[in-house]
Amino acid sequence: MVATTEEVLELHGRVRECTACPLHLTRTQAVPGYGPVTARVMAVGEAPGENEDREGKPFVGAAGRLLTTLLESAGLDRRDIYITNIVKCRPPRNRDPEPLEVDACSHFLDEQIDLLQPDVILLLGRHALTRLLPGAGGISRLHGERVRRDDRVFVPLYHPAAALYNAGLKETLEADMRRVRGYLNDAEAARARRAGGVSASEMRTVASAPGGDQMDLF
Ligand code: URA
Repeated sequence: MVATTEEVLELHGRVRECTACPLHLTRTQAVPGYGPVTARVMAVGEAPGENEDREGKPFVGAAGRLLTTLLESAGLDRRDIYITNIVKCRPPRNRDPEPLEVDACSHFLDEQIDLLQPDVILLLGRHALTRLLPGAGGISRLHGERVRRDDRVFVPLYHPAAALYNAGLKETLEADMRRVRGYLNDAEAARARRAGGVSASEMRTVASAPGGDQMDLF
């Protein structure tokens, strides 16, 4: 069942009020996630940076602009994707999140996945890979591959920030992103078969019909 806007907003509210780890002391604001409740693709990054901390939305800086371009090159519209991070508050000076911070924040990401039930989850960088596919292997081996676990489809990708100043990595990321389009088509077809012939895009049309609120952005 597709989550309701109210359920996702309630979760975002809890993220904004969270004081479970020391990052709440240095944040400007928490960054719960952004995108339509009906998103079939979820992208998971590492943690908010300076711009995200200021604006309250994920991937709004240079890495975010590259992410948008990469998605477009694969025929995907960022506005259709729910974007979040494993850690919802900015680590000081953009350092890596500490294990304690990841652990304290993890249940929010689990809840987001349970609510949105995305067909494909893009893991942006090694932190997201380690958090959601522990023991699966490293990013240099798994990037661009489709990994199925617990009835979900994951695609580990290099983090866009790593590709910003590395042309070779950017090309790899572009090629990997093009594969995502195919994975998504397969996942939508599988979902349609499970739903008895109703495709995900048809379900989205119903969900966004006048009077429905399920296409709201957060
Ligand atoms: N990098 C991330 O991992 N997440 C953001 O939101 C921005 C940059």
